[in-house]
Amino acid sequence: MTMNQPPIPATYTGADESLLVQRIYARKKEFGKKLLILAHHYQAEAVFQCADVAGDSLLLAREAAEATDAEWIVFCGVHFMAESADILTPDSKAVFLPHLDAGCPMADMATVEEVSAAWDEMGAFCAMETVIPVTYVNSSAAIKAFVGKHGGSVCTSSNAERVLAWALNKGEKMFFFPDEHLGRNSALALGVDPTQIILWKRGQVLGGNAKEDVEQARVILWDGYCEVHMEFDPVQIAAFREEFPEGKVIVHPESRYSAVSKADAYGSTEAIIKAVAESPEGSVWAVGTEVNLVKRLQLHHPGKTIKLLAPASCQCKFCKTMQLVTPAALLWLLDNLAEGRMVNQITVPEDIACDARLSLARMLET
Ligand code: SF4
Repeated sequence: MTMNQPPIPATYTGADESLLVQRIYARKKEFGKKLLILAHHYQAEAVFQCADVAGDSLLLAREAAEATDAEWIVFCGVHFMAESADILTPDSKAVFLPHLDAGCPMADMATVEEVSAAWDEMGAFCAMETVIPVTYVNSSAAIKAFVGKHGGSVCTSSNAERVLAWALNKGEKMFFFPDEHLGRNSALALGVDPTQIILWKRGQVLGGNAKEDVEQARVILWDGYCEVHMEFDPVQIAAFREEFPEGKVIVHPESRYSAVSKADAYGSTEAIIKAVAESPEGSVWAVGTEVNLVKRLQLHHPGKTIKLLAPASCQCKFCKTMQLVTPAALLWLLDNLAEGRMVNQITVPEDIACDARLSLARMLET
C-alpha cells in the first residue's frame, strides 16, 4: 500500500547522516519515555542504531502491545507493521511511520476485495465454516479483519508452523495468503501431502483450479511472494557448498521450497540471528535473507565467515521499501512531532481494527 508521503525538505535529505543520527538522539533524550522507536531487522544500520527495540514482526507487535509508558510509537518498518501496532495499542497511543511510501509489495498482492471474491467462489461448493483462513502478518489491516471475522488467525515467519497446525486441526481446509512460499514450506514441514496443496492464482476462475482440485485440497495457497526472498535458489546453494564444503546454509521461509529443501536450516529473522550467534567461532554461513540483516551479522560476528546467499553478479537483495525509512525521514518526523504536528500517523478505523484484533489475538494466544 502506498500513501502520499509529504515532501521531506532538502535540509534533511541532503544532510550528513552522522549529524542526522546525532539530532535523532537529541530528540529521543528530549521526548524520554513518551517516545518508543521500533525497528525491523531489515532496516539499514543508520536507522537501526536509533531504535529502542529491534526485532521481527512478532516481537515488535508484542512490544507495541506491551508499551505502557510510550505515547508515540514510531515504527521503522513498513506499513502493515505500523497498522498492526495501531490495532494492538489503545487510542491513547499514536503510531507513526517515518515514510508513508514504505509498504510491502507482497502484502499488496492480496487485497481484501480479491480474497473475498475467492472466498465467495469457493463458497459456491465448499462448506466455508470448515475452511480456516490464515494470513501472514505481511498483509493489510482489512485482510486481517477478514480473517478475524471468519474464525482465522494471523501468523508470522516465527510461528507459521504452529498457527498452520492449529488451523489444520480446526478445519478441513486452510486458505493461506498472501505468501505462497511461507505457506508451502510450513505445510510440507507439517507433513501435508504435496498433492493436497494447491495454488490459487490471482485473476483466474477458481484460481486456475478445477472444482475437484479445490474440493480435495487441504491447503490452498495464494500466489503472492516476496521479491527479495524469491531469488534464492539451489544453484546459489550448490555454488556456496562447493567453495565452503564445511559451511552451513540458512534461509528465510519466504524463499522457494527448492531453496529451503537444500538449506541446512530455515527460519525467521530471529531464528537466523540465533543460529548464527550460537554457532562456534570460525563457522561459515551462507544466509538467504535481506542484505541489511546479513551485514549486521557480519558486523557482530567478526570471527565467523558470513556470506549473503546470492550469485556473484548480484549483491542487491535489499527490500526497497524498507530503505525508504532513512535517518532523514525519521528526524523529519520527530521534528514535526516536537512542533506539535502529528504527521504520518497510521490509524486503522475501529470497525476494521476490531475484527483484525481477533485474528492477531488468536496468533498471540497460539
Ligand atoms: S522483505 Fe519482502 S516481505 Fe519483507 S517487507 Fe520487503 S517486500 Fe515485504
